[in-house]
Amino acid sequence: GSQQVREAFKRELEKNKLEQEVKLVETDCHEFCETGPLVIVYPEGTFYVRVTPEDVPEIVSEHLINGRVVKRLLYKAPVDETRIPTYKQLDFYKKQCRVALRNCGSIDPEKIQEYIARGGYESLEKAIFEMTPEQVIEEVKRSGLRGRGGGGFPTGLKWEFCRRSPGDLKYLICNADEGDPGAFMDRSVLEGDPHSLIEGMAIAAYAIGCREGYIYCRAEYPLAIKRLKIAIAQAEELGLLGENILGTDFTFNLHIKEGAGAFVCGEETALMASIEGKRGMPRVRPPFPAQRGLFNKPSNINNVETYANVPVIIARGADWFAAMGTEKSKGTKVFALTGKVNNTGLVEVPMGITLREIIFEIGGGIVGGKKYKGVQIGGPSGGCIPAELMDTPVDYESLIQAGAMMGSGGLVVMDETTCMVDLARFFLNFTQAESCGKCTPCREGTKRMLEILTRICNGEGVPEDIETLERLGRVIKSTALCGLGNTAPNPVLSTLRYFRHEYEAHIFDKR
Ligand code: SF4
Repeated sequence: GSQQVREAFKRELEKNKLEQEVKLVETDCHEFCETGPLVIVYPEGTFYVRVTPEDVPEIVSEHLINGRVVKRLLYKAPVDETRIPTYKQLDFYKKQCRVALRNCGSIDPEKIQEYIARGGYESLEKAIFEMTPEQVIEEVKRSGLRGRGGGGFPTGLKWEFCRRSPGDLKYLICNADEGDPGAFMDRSVLEGDPHSLIEGMAIAAYAIGCREGYIYCRAEYPLAIKRLKIAIAQAEELGLLGENILGTDFTFNLHIKEGAGAFVCGEETALMASIEGKRGMPRVRPPFPAQRGLFNKPSNINNVETYANVPVIIARGADWFAAMGTEKSKGTKVFALTGKVNNTGLVEVPMGITLREIIFEIGGGIVGGKKYKGVQIGGPSGGCIPAELMDTPVDYESLIQAGAMMGSGGLVVMDETTCMVDLARFFLNFTQAESCGKCTPCREGTKRMLEILTRICNGEGVPEDIETLERLGRVIKSTALCGLGNTAPNPVLSTLRYFRHEYEAHIFDKR
C-alpha cells in the first residue's frame, strides 16, 4: 500500500501548497516490515506505522501544518506526551547498528545524488587517489571483515589471493542469488541502496586488479534488477564506473546476469558456470576461483552485504569497523527476523549480540505471549538452537559450536506449537528439491532422509529411523561435493541433537 500512500501525500501537499516546502522522498524498505507502510517525518524522525491513504490528510494538517504529532499512528502510545520517540529510540532500532543498511529507507535509491550527498563514492575516490591497491587490501584485512554469504572467509585475504594470481584479465563477481526461504537481506540492499554495492565492488576491483565485473542476481528480484540498471547507468554517466574512472586509467565495467532461481547457483563454482551459459552445477575445487574461475580466469566472489560494508571501512578506517563485534567476528550482520516473533523485519546487529537480545528486545518476544522454543538460524544450511541456548552470542564460531551456522542470515523463530520434526522436514524438502544431482551422497542421501522424515511425520516411523538419519546425515556432510550437500543435513542433525524426544514421540507414541 505504500504507493497509494505516496500518491495521497502528493495530492495533499499540492492541495495545501506545500510541495515546495515539504520534500516527499520515496525510499525503499525501512526494514520494520511488521509495521508497514511506514512514513517518517524529518527532521524530528517521527515514525508513523501502518499508514493508509485515508490517514494522510490528518498527518499533513496536524503534523506538517500545526506541528502536532498524530498519536494514533505512532508505533506505541507515548509514555510521556512531551517526548515522542524518534524511530531510532524504538526497541526495534535501539540495539541495531546500521552499516550495510546505512542508507536503506533513508534515500531514494534511484537518485545517485542522494547517495553522494551522504558521502557516497568518497571512499572510491579515497582508494584511487590516496591508497595503493595493496593498502586497500591491507585495510580490509585489518578490519576483520569476513564473507557475509555464509562461509565467513576473511575478505581481505580472499582479495589478496586473487590479486596475486597471475593474469591480466580478472573478474569480480557479486553473488546476489539470495535463495534461502525467509531471507531478504541482500534484496534490501539491492533495492534500497544499490550504489553501496557498486561502490564496494569498484573498490574491490581497484584493489584486486579487475577490469570486468558481474552481479549475479536472481530474476525473481525484478525491482532489484531495475534499480541496479539505473544505478550502473548513473555511475557510468558520472565517470564512477566504466572506462577511465575519475579520469584515471582505472577501468571497471559492471554487468548484470539474471539467474533463473536455482538455489545451487549460490555456490560459487555453479554461479560461474551459470554466467558462462552452462548448467549451474558445482565443480571440484581446487582450482579455486582465485586461481581459475569465471572463463578460466582468476576471479573473486563476495556477496552483496560483504561489498556493501567496504565503502564504510575505507571511509572510517579498519579500526572503527574492528571495534564492533567479537575477537574473531568483526562488524555487524544483517538478519531476516521472521517466524513467531512480534517484530518481524530486517535487523542489523553487532556481532556477539545474543539471540535473547535479538528475539526478545529487538523482536519484542513471541507472538501471543507463547513460550519460545528455538530458532532456526542460517536458513536451510543452518541449524536449530533451542531456548536453553538463547544466550549464545551470534558470531561465526559460537553458532557452529551450537550446531548451527551464520549462513546468509535467515533467523526463523519458533514457539511451543512448532513441531521440530516437521520443521526439519520442511528445510530438507527444500534442499532435496534444489540438489543439482551431480554427486551421489547429496542426490540419493537427501532423498532417503526426506523419505524417512516423511514417514516419521506420518506416524509410520520405526525405531531404527533415528540412527539411520544420523548416519546418513554424517555421511552426506562429509562426502557431498559442495556446500549445499555438506550443510543439507544440518536442520535434521541439530533438531535430533536438541529435540530428539520429539522424534521419539512421533515414532513410539505414534502421534
Ligand atoms: Fe549437486 Fe548436492 Fe552434489 Fe552440491 S552436493 S554438487 S548440490 S548433488
